[in-house]
Amino acid sequence: MTATRVLVLNSGSSSVKYRLLDMRDGSRLAAGLVERIGEQTSRLKHTPLAAGTGTREVTGPIADHDAALKAVAGELARDGLGLDSPELAAIGHRVVHGGRRFTEPTVIDDTVLAEIERLIPLAPLHNPANLTGIRTARALRPDLPQVAVFDTAFHTTMPESAARYAIDVETADAHRIRRYGFHGTSHAYVSRATAELLGRSPEEVNVIVLHLGNGASASAVRGGRCVDTSMGLTPLEGLVMGTRSGDLDPAVIFHLMRVGGMSADEIDTLLNKRSGLIGLCGDNDMREIRRRVDEGDERARLAFDIYVHRLRKYIGAYCAVLGTVDAVAFTAGVGENAAPVREAAVAGLEGLGLAVDGELNAARADGPRLISPAGARVAVAVVPTDEELEIATQTYALVGKHD
Ligand code: ADP
Repeated sequence: MTATRVLVLNSGSSSVKYRLLDMRDGSRLAAGLVERIGEQTSRLKHTPLAAGTGTREVTGPIADHDAALKAVAGELARDGLGLDSPELAAIGHRVVHGGRRFTEPTVIDDTVLAEIERLIPLAPLHNPANLTGIRTARALRPDLPQVAVFDTAFHTTMPESAARYAIDVETADAHRIRRYGFHGTSHAYVSRATAELLGRSPEEVNVIVLHLGNGASASAVRGGRCVDTSMGLTPLEGLVMGTRSGDLDPAVIFHLMRVGGMSADEIDTLLNKRSGLIGLCGDNDMREIRRRVDEGDERARLAFDIYVHRLRKYIGAYCAVLGTVDAVAFTAGVGENAAPVREAAVAGLEGLGLAVDGELNAARADGPRLISPAGARVAVAVVPTDEELEIATQTYALVGKHD
């Protein structure tokens, strides 16, 4: 029997998201989420995608990732999709930080595990959780290929001029300080899907991808290769996000330490969790912010304007980085759903060849679609991202070659 299924695991510190796909057509067989691992109120939400079956919820304490993955395996087995199935070809793991070393998806062995561990100082919250997920899955199916797909990998093609900060080179290198970028799996998928929407191959087009979720990042993609991205050493740099500040003068940090008497940890929390949209207006959900704007709320209006201003600066910057732009693609929760953000992001940029058609922008649809007026010099598109499918595709491409 040919093994054509891939299980994708995205292990966070207290959660595991998963999806089982059939790679013959990329269809989903099951998907789910385990939340609040380690608490008394853990919850497993499992959605088998066969016709006629509904979501199942299991609540109660799930002690650790091992117990979580065993519970997931149990739910999958109930649907005849158990992890012991010969049809399972591999498990693909999302790994946040791959440093400079991991430029591609990689089959996991002990050396790879050690290297992901060595990168923990660069992603102290994420890589340990990703590692726990990998170790648990390996223990469950030691014989099965496990593949790491890195959030940073797509950005490793950035030239040094974009990847380096202008600080002392020895100091930077000693501490591995450079711009790594994140959301790479999404930027890779969306830039390719945008080329497809234009009916061209990725090598022929230059695309600006705007991944606007709770976290947000922009990338400049030339001929399928990333040449710049807005996140840097960590996901804090760049655009205004749900709870993160994005770009700011680094001297703000010294000021908060010296004048504000705050510790490094307090500032870390301020900039990552209490800034961005939530810091500006108390809400980080764009739906709620738009509702407040429509009611005339001034703080929400200002938060929206600051968000859009930063976004426009990056669009302009990446037009300059790329020289010629074929498409601007909006993706993720805000990018796919918030028509007012898309409209405001390109308003008045006709000089750069950018415009949206009001009706096309307001229309709702599931798949990739153009929202620029017919004949526009630069295509503006809404392209739903699918990181799990991309992880599965990259995983399967690596291990499915023997067929
Ligand atoms: P994450 O970064 O957590 O993966 P998502 O890509 O799912 O985030 O985006 C989540 C965000 O998308 C929400 O916080 C909200 O601001 C925004 N969002 C989701 N649906 C809508 C909508 N219909 N209109 C406007 N914004 C939306």
